Amino acid sequence: MRVLVVEDDVLLGDAIQAGLRQSGYAVDWMKDGVSADQALSTEPYAAVVLDLGLPRLSGLEVLRHLRGRNTPIPVLILTARDTVDDRIKGLDAGADDYLVKPFDMGELAARLRALVRRASGSAAPVLHTAGVKLEPAAHRVLYHDQPVELSAREFALLHALMLNAGKVLSRARLEEQLYAWGDEIESNAVEVHIHHLRRKLFPGLIETIRGVGYLIPAGKGS
Ligand code: CA
Repeated sequence: MRVLVVEDDVLLGDAIQAGLRQSGYAVDWMKDGVSADQALSTEPYAAVVLDLGLPRLSGLEVLRHLRGRNTPIPVLILTARDTVDDRIKGLDAGADDYLVKPFDMGELAARLRALVRRASGSAAPVLHTAGVKLEPAAHRVLYHDQPVELSAREFALLHALMLNAGKVLSRARLEEQLYAWGDEIESNAVEVHIHHLRRKLFPGLIETIRGVGYLIPAGKGS
């Protein structure tokens, strides 16, 4: 799950990036509104954490551009204390949620999980398919109630496929979701992770659609 963090305060941005990485997200971090605007027009982020007070272009403007392109990506805004007006403007400009600084990193991660879940059209905090249970909050996968050890990338890949059950995701699309800028992508990375997931769970879980991508079929039930 790849997210964009936009924050010009270096200490805070660094803490958010570290906290979200620890929660298993691939994180890109931009420190001004113009860079954020550019990144958002090209990269497929699962969610955005957006500070409103930014150099070059305000967070509110970044948000207005994003919604102007009719991009449905979930946005959580960060505001200073005593700025009710900012929060109202942000929500009215299309933000989905907000946090007031200073905030708890665990709460930020939990709110992002809720936003990503809602954006995928699923209200359930736990995903099920064909005997596989994925718990985003606990960062845990069970197969027939037995815990399965997955690497961070394997987990992220399985999460993306389960959130999009019934849809084919291309290899490029999966790579974009798993890796932040500057991450080293091993060649055939996605194929290797898929291979490991099939071995650790079961071979038929993930289908290869030749020349298109991968999918977990919808409606396999729990
Ligand atoms: Ca700021």
